[in-house]
Amino acid sequence: VAERPPRWLPCETGASWLDLVATVGRAYGPAPVDRLTDPARLADWLATQDLTPRRAPTRADLTRARTLRESLRTLALATRNDTPWPPDALATLNTALADDTHLTVITPRQAPSGPALRPPATAREALARLAREAAVHLTGPAAGSLHQCADETCGMLYLDPTGRRRWCSAEICGVRNRVRAHRRRAHEPE
Ligand SMILES: [Zn+2]
Repeated sequence: VAERPPRWLPCETGASWLDLVATVGRAYGPAPVDRLTDPARLADWLATQDLTPRRAPTRADLTRARTLRESLRTLALATRNDTPWPPDALATLNTALADDTHLTVITPRQAPSGPALRPPATAREALARLAREAAVHLTGPAAGSLHQCADETCGMLYLDPTGRRRWCSAEICGVRNRVRAHRRRAHEPE
């Protein structure tokens, strides 16, 4: 039996679609790590977003999730850099949006923790909800709050309405870069 990979670390991107983009670790360094390795892992990740589909994700869903993820990354970077949206990435977003269905809130009797959104029937529908969130953010005022972690290999994209955050996470990239800067200073000649 293969060992289960570690649980998903919480990331502080401020949006589910940006959490999807963040499923590639060290995305902008020489050795990116794709954490969506198989359909079960996609199911695990969807659960962290309260998007567990009623039918388990398939291999085709995994491919779809990765394709959407990379298109969202491209569109987010284009938005952030104020460059035109590449047509391929936009087409992928629109294809995902075509799978969107209306939301239904279910009552406490069905959802013991209180009113909740009816879970998506399929992974496609779950991805469509992420696409919808991305489309709203990228075309509205939230686009102005899109920032990127100052750690070059991390480069995690997140929403920060205050514009004051430098790092995706003060505890991870913030600490790592402070240590790095300290070492650099320690090695400088007197
Ligand atoms: Zn970072």
